[in-house]
Amino acid sequence: MAEVLVLVDSVDGTVKKATLELLTAARAIGEPAAVVVGAPGTAAALKGQLGEYGAAKVYVAESDDIAGYSIAPKAEALAAAVAAASPAAVLIGSTADNKEVAARLAFKIGSGVLTDAVAVDGDGATQQIFGGAITVSAKVAKGVPVVTVRPNSYAPEPAAGAAEEVAVSFTVSDAAKGAKIIESVAEEKGSRPALSDASVVVSGGRGIGSADNFAIIEKLADSLGAAVGASRAVVDAGWVPHTMQVGQTGVTVSPQLYIAVGISGAIQHRAGMQTSKTIVAINKDAEAPIFELADFGVVGDLFTVAPALTEEITKRKG
Ligand SMILES: Cc1cc2nc3c(=O)[nH]c(=O)nc-3n(C[C@H](O)[C@H](O)[C@H](O)COP(=O)(O)OP(=O)(O)OC[C@H]3O[C@@H](n4cnc5c(N)ncnc54)[C@H](O)[C@@H]3O)c2cc1C
Repeated sequence: MAEVLVLVDSVDGTVKKATLELLTAARAIGEPAAVVVGAPGTAAALKGQLGEYGAAKVYVAESDDIAGYSIAPKAEALAAAVAAASPAAVLIGSTADNKEVAARLAFKIGSGVLTDAVAVDGDGATQQIFGGAITVSAKVAKGVPVVTVRPNSYAPEPAAGAAEEVAVSFTVSDAAKGAKIIESVAEEKGSRPALSDASVVVSGGRGIGSADNFAIIEKLADSLGAAVGASRAVVDAGWVPHTMQVGQTGVTVSPQLYIAVGISGAIQHRAGMQTSKTIVAINKDAEAPIFELADFGVVGDLFTVAPALTEEITKRKG
């Protein structure tokens, strides 16, 4: 069975959930193999977890020339892993940086790239475009498909894998070292999950009325361990930062559960959340467009419904 390479994303010595999803997806196409690209010593902490999610091999592409530079060295390291493995496909998590890695890799190995897939199969992928209004089945015209897959497209399932370590030998070219990172500042993070790959998102809209009232949304989110999002109206009002905006000109999310509170459901908002697996809307206007999209809807005043929901969830969780 041909190998399917999965580029590993990790943070603080832990494999990111999106990578575990890709290892699960890879099993349907071939034999999953993880590729760790990073500074020397990166793979050691990740190998165990990769094996628990089915990685038969772990290709280790480590170099001092990875961490200090931007995207290009990563693409060269991954290309070396592809040359060593001759895989059936390469799966990469759909982040902004990774999409650039994917494009550079596809160019280097003379194949095609499919981005933002929601499912992968033997020789292609399924994409949802125009905010999820159209589903596309796509294949690359030649070579090894390089596919970036949206977070939350698959549920990660453990499976035993040997996680046999294979060292990848490569040299980072001078051209790839043309852009050096001179400073990086870690974004201040609270205890909530990141919006773009959270499996539950609670978003608030203009109906919330003020910045202070946004605490109602945060409390509901915290009761579910969810990320917090917002509509553009809320961002434009200055109640929350733009990093929390969901939609066409904000973040695209595709969680298992999306709860829209006091959001009308304008097309530009829908473009960023339409592919969520289950959508719940709370809105006092029964004619609000969000209800056309919602799997479950509550017509009611959010100031009554959201706190009651938070209380009930908290009670049930004990
Ligand atoms: C080029 C362009 C790009 C855009 N990009 C984005 C984007 O990325 N993301 C985005 O979100 N928007 C975007 N917009 C804006 C978009 O068109 C809408 O204006 C915006 O989404 C509306 O936000 P909202 O639903 O919070 O507000 P509104 O449309 O004002 O809706 C508020 C809702 O709250 C309900 N409500 C009010 N009070 C209560 C209550 N007490 N209880 C329950 N419900 C209540 C109302 O019934 C209403 O449905 C974009 C627009 C343009 C032109």
